[in-house]
Amino acid sequence: MKPLKVRFAPSPTGPLHIGGARSALFNYLFAEHHNAQLVLRIEDTDLERSRREYEDEIISSLRWLGLTWAEGVDTGGENGPYRQTERLDLYRRYEKQLLVANHAYYCFCSADDLEQERQSLISKGETPRYLGKCRHLSPQAVEEKLRQGLKPTVRFQVPAAEIIEIPDLVRGPVRFATEEIGDFIIVKSDGIPTYNFAVVIDDTLMDITHVIRAEEHLSNTPRQWLIYSALGFPAPEFAHISLILGADRQKMSKRHGATSLIQYREIGYLPEALFNFLGFLGWSPEGEEQILSREEFTAAFTLERVSKSPAVFDLNKLNWLNHQYLLKKSLADYALLLEPFLKKSAYYQSFVQLTPEQKELFMTGMRSRLVFLSEVEEYLQLLFGPLQYSPESEEVLAENDVLPVLNYIKDHFPADTSAANVETFLKNSIKTLKIKPKQLYMPLRCALSGQIHGMELPVMINIWGQKEFLSRLQLALGKINGNDC
Ligand code: GLU
Repeated sequence: MKPLKVRFAPSPTGPLHIGGARSALFNYLFAEHHNAQLVLRIEDTDLERSRREYEDEIISSLRWLGLTWAEGVDTGGENGPYRQTERLDLYRRYEKQLLVANHAYYCFCSADDLEQERQSLISKGETPRYLGKCRHLSPQAVEEKLRQGLKPTVRFQVPAAEIIEIPDLVRGPVRFATEEIGDFIIVKSDGIPTYNFAVVIDDTLMDITHVIRAEEHLSNTPRQWLIYSALGFPAPEFAHISLILGADRQKMSKRHGATSLIQYREIGYLPEALFNFLGFLGWSPEGEEQILSREEFTAAFTLERVSKSPAVFDLNKLNWLNHQYLLKKSLADYALLLEPFLKKSAYYQSFVQLTPEQKELFMTGMRSRLVFLSEVEEYLQLLFGPLQYSPESEEVLAENDVLPVLNYIKDHFPADTSAANVETFLKNSIKTLKIKPKQLYMPLRCALSGQIHGMELPVMINIWGQKEFLSRLQLALGKINGNDC
């Protein structure tokens, strides 16, 4: 048996999206599970939309996710080059072979002709397709047109009235009628092959045994199947993995929030959380577990457990996973992860002035709270930004029993503002005032930070210190007494 080999073949026409990352991950897991090789090939035949920056960005996103591959555009290997625009000579060879064997022919139809044909088919309720006008041009007519300098496309001649049945490891056998497929272009008039043609040559020459890719490509597969057969190449096994839908069950798009891996990285999601999350988008292990390590994924991943039905992108689940992975970090690692987000903050200068103890308290507080790392900005703003009262906090401060509590705190506030001491002071105050904890913490939190949520009050108070604490409290008292509004 041929050694198993898979590939991930992104087109560098944009950043790596969630869907692409999921396809890459499934290929990676398949390779790891079966001890197979993974190839990274760049499909850049769309010259207008392909960019080297996107290629670099895709590679760095894949690396960030922790994927590795044996052969590819950046690692090299014996089946290179791995960028399709560098393989044009290879495609030309097979283009000639198809032309000579009459599996392909030159087409000189203009864009206008093609559009007219399309519209007329649509108006008759038929599938728009090429009806084969140039299929029967005589060799002399072709010669003549070429001599005139016309630049033809090359079309594949689709056999009439056949049913193609393609086995798919996820979907079972899938059937297509060739009648629905017009003779399709395999080489554009500028000599560049189309995706459907190049992919067949590459997957064959690179010894790919399993093509695992998104369901969007299922409709391309019969075209590729026909080319395999015309060239006498054995076709690989196909596994088309289901669409990813947003929570509203519509196809995942920008409307659903961040779509590229880079965006998730910038928001402060961990690669291991995304790895785990993407691994479950259309695949599940036998048991009920939600958190799997890379090794557990590798051991459990098989195509048999890939689902046919669409996967739903559940942001709450990703948030939950990210929080779980963040909670597992040591404080030192957590601080390192948070550092770039702190540095980007408008309040970074205030943050660096904290004592080591305060920083540690802050980190501990953040680790237990943050769902994703860029959320730190909200907490920095509460500590160091201008005091602004949210409508909810104004409601809390407008309640009758608030004033005596805040006055008591102001009058008895201790000189020692260590977090532990502040905590004891607040607890004792609750006892003395004979009130419930919430009756103290909520108004005090609102008075000091203007918000009903935040980190532990003793830590915040410790970071502010007595002077800032008192000035914030005075401001709130003034507000309650109607002095400043
Ligand atoms: N270049 C194609 C894409 O980015 C991949 C097609 C394939 O995997 O066959 O969608």
